[in-house]
Formats: sequence, C-alpha cells, structure tokens
Amino acid sequence: MQRLEIMKFGGSSLADTARIEGAATIIAGYTPGKVVVVVSAMGGVTDTLIAAFHKTREHGVKAAHPYLSDLRDKYAAVIDGLPLDEAATTELRQHIDTLESALQSDLQDVEAMDFDDKRLYDRVVSYGERASVLLVAAALQAQGIPAVSIEASELIVTNARFGDAEPILGASRQKLQGVLTPILEDAIIPVVTGFIGATVHGEITTLGRGASDYTSTILAFCLDADKVTIWTDVTGVMTADPRVIHDAQTISALSYEEAAELSFYGAKVLHPMTMLPVVQKNIPVYIKNTFEPAAKGTKIAARGSSKTATVKAVTTLRGLSMITIRGAGATSALQHLAKIIDALLEKNIEIITLQQSSSDHNTVILVRSYVADEAANSIAKLMIDDVAAEHSVVRVVPDVSIVAVVGDGIHALPGLAGQVFSSLAVSGIEAMMIAYGSSKHNLTFAIKTADEHNAIRGLHQAFQLVAEDT
Ligand code: ASP
Ligand code: MG
Repeated sequence: MQRLEIMKFGGSSLADTARIEGAATIIAGYTPGKVVVVVSAMGGVTDTLIAAFHKTREHGVKAAHPYLSDLRDKYAAVIDGLPLDEAATTELRQHIDTLESALQSDLQDVEAMDFDDKRLYDRVVSYGERASVLLVAAALQAQGIPAVSIEASELIVTNARFGDAEPILGASRQKLQGVLTPILEDAIIPVVTGFIGATVHGEITTLGRGASDYTSTILAFCLDADKVTIWTDVTGVMTADPRVIHDAQTISALSYEEAAELSFYGAKVLHPMTMLPVVQKNIPVYIKNTFEPAAKGTKIAARGSSKTATVKAVTTLRGLSMITIRGAGATSALQHLAKIIDALLEKNIEIITLQQSSSDHNTVILVRSYVADEAANSIAKLMIDDVAAEHSVVRVVPDVSIVAVVGDGIHALPGLAGQVFSSLAVSGIEAMMIAYGSSKHNLTFAIKTADEHNAIRGLHQAFQLVAEDT
C-alpha cells in the first residue's frame, strides 16, 4: 500500500529565504509521490494583510500602500535569495506580481464597499498562503525536486461562514483525490496553501486564524494519509508556556483528547480544530521543530490502554470576561437560562463556560472579552421583558483567564482537586467557576489574568511537570 505523509510548515518556519530553504531541505528528505506539503503565509504576512484590509476600509487604498510595499520587499528578497536560474526567477516574479495586482484590485473593491464584506476580507487575507506555495515550490525546484504549487480553493470545499469556514469533508475528499492523486502518481510534490478553501460557488473562504494546521489534517483525512507532521518553531507541545515556565519540558506523547484540550485552552502550538479529522481515522500527528529536525518532538495519537492517568500540562486561555447575571424571581431558573442562551445564540456568541446555581437563579458565563459587551447588552435586553426585570442585574468582569490542568483520566485521580487548590491557596489565588468531572481530560477554573503566571508556576511545580520526558 502506498504510504502518504502530510507535512505542514508554519509561518515562523518560512520567515525568510534561509528558513524557506531549510523547509525545502527537510522536504527533500522525502520521496516525491509519498508526501503532500501544506504551507502557511510567511511569518507576519497575514497580520500585514489584515492591517491593509482595515486601513483601506477606514482611509482608502492609498493608506494601505506601506503594507503593500512591505510585502513587495519581503517577496523580492526571497526571489533574489533563492538559487534559481534566470527563467525560474522571471516566472516566479511574474506569478508574485500577478498576485499583487489581484490583491490591489481586491483592495480597490474594499475601498468602494460601504459595509464590512467578509467575502472580500477572506480574499485579501488569502494572499499570504497563495504567495507561500509559489516560493516553496520554487525552492524545491531549485534543489532539483519536482514540485507544483496548488491553491486549496481548488481542493477544500467549505460552507459560506467567511472568516471561520467549516470544511465539507465529503465534497473535499472527492476534489482532493481527483486533483492530487495524479500528481502524486507522477512523483511530484504538491505544495498546498494552508488556511483557505472555497464555497461550492468557488468563493475563497478562510478556516480561521492559525488554521493551516487544520488544513493538514483535513488533507490527511481526505487522502487517507498515514501520518501528519506539523513543522513549527518549538520542539513540540510543552508542559506549560515556556515563556513563563523556563524549565517547561516537551511532552513526548499526547492523546488526541489531551492535544485538543490543550489547544482549546490556549496552547498556541495547534489550531483547536486540528485533531477533529484525524481522530476518526486514527492518523498520528507529530509536532516537530524546523530548527532541530532531529529532536523527537511530540507524538499525538489514540490513547494507549495501559497508561496510568497523570497530569500532562497546565495551560491558560486569556482574554476572557466573566458575565454574571442575577436572576429575577418571577421566572424559573430554567427559563432564565433559556433566555441567556437565546440572547447569545442570536448574536452567535460562543460560551466558553457556564455555571448556574438554581437556588437564586444566578448564572455566570465566560465569553471572549471582545464580545463581552455585546453579550451583556443582548442578555440585558432580553431580561427587560421579564416581569421582575428590575431584580436582574448583568455585570461584566474583564481580564479573566481559564487555567486548564490537562491529562487523560485525571477526573478519577484521588486527591487531584485537593492538590490543585492547595497550590493556589499557597499563592493566595482565588479560583472561580471550577469545572471538574465533566471532562475526563481536564480540570479547569477561572482566575484573574493578573494571577495567571503565579498560578501556572505553582501548578507546574506541584505536579512536578519538570520530571516529564527526562
Ligand atoms: N496564515 C494564517 C494565520 O496567520 C494561517 C496559519 O498561519 O495557520 O492565521
Ligand atoms: Mg500556528
């Protein structure tokens, strides 16, 4: 049976000519026909495109010129730096120029529009990945490796939720196999844009910030790959944020569930949706460091049955706000809750955590801070219909973080909660909205963001996570 590996390179692994050549050298170690490459935009490019979009929106396309010339310089430097012959250089330059003209024309449209057009936004932010595939394919060709660049708008079919689209796996599978199988059979390496797809009508969509990881596992699912490798700038998933915990360690093995929990609760290394496509087919995902290709990294796979439960990592999700809603006596706790959910559903606002105490109808929810006011207002509005509205009070507390203590089976570890909360008590940190037992893989609680570093430090020590992987 043909073995196939999907490998993805993130923006920091493609930050300049040297990094792009480094990625090409890693890819060159694989057999053409047995590997599909997925690439992100070069580091910083997506942020620049987003800034260009907003600047154009506010002040017209002229105001975006500095961003465009930044991009032009960046790409010119790579084109000059790659060891390409004259014909290849000219061809690459032409392709990049064509993209740039298309971007200019999209920005003209942005200037002309009088509403926030998410379709145009997705088109504008897609250019980073679309330029990357050209550069990486050229870098491979320069090393004598047969490679072809492909835009995933030809491969991945999504719904029309622009900015955060969801893939339609059945339709994508058909397209992916149709386009990529002949290329692989010809022993050519396809270099595919991460992050983007297209609706059934062919309009470009994006899968959300950081979603090139997700692209790689969507491809793995649709092509029945044996393995995914995500090449990044850290040596795998760590026991805690290494910027806070200097002796944080690389975790050698994680289950899909642990990896999903960690990425949801703020570990930056993976896009939260990444595990979804591969779990069903049991395809392992490796996280490896382009700066240290020989290091083992982290393997993410189904959980081995013999493993005993231990805490694997501590992570935090910040940028949250806590909304407390004091209920009115006239409605039941259930009706009260239904109203809150309705209000949020209507605005499509995600609830990170929710707790209710039925006795006094008090409800507390955590939402991302940038939607907190909108959430609070729409909840308050729905409460106005309430006979006893004057008794309900909606309050927003900003600067809240969730801490997640993650490890398979820790819900059944005797004394775990005791250990967690005595560690917090030692640092005088108050925990709110504790959730334990509802997931087999984590214990979570909210704290003030200001307490975050102390909390992780204490927990990392309490669970001796430094001993992991030694
Ligand atoms: N370039 C996109 C972003 O910056 C996608 C990715 O890097 O995964 O969000
Ligand atoms: Mg990323």
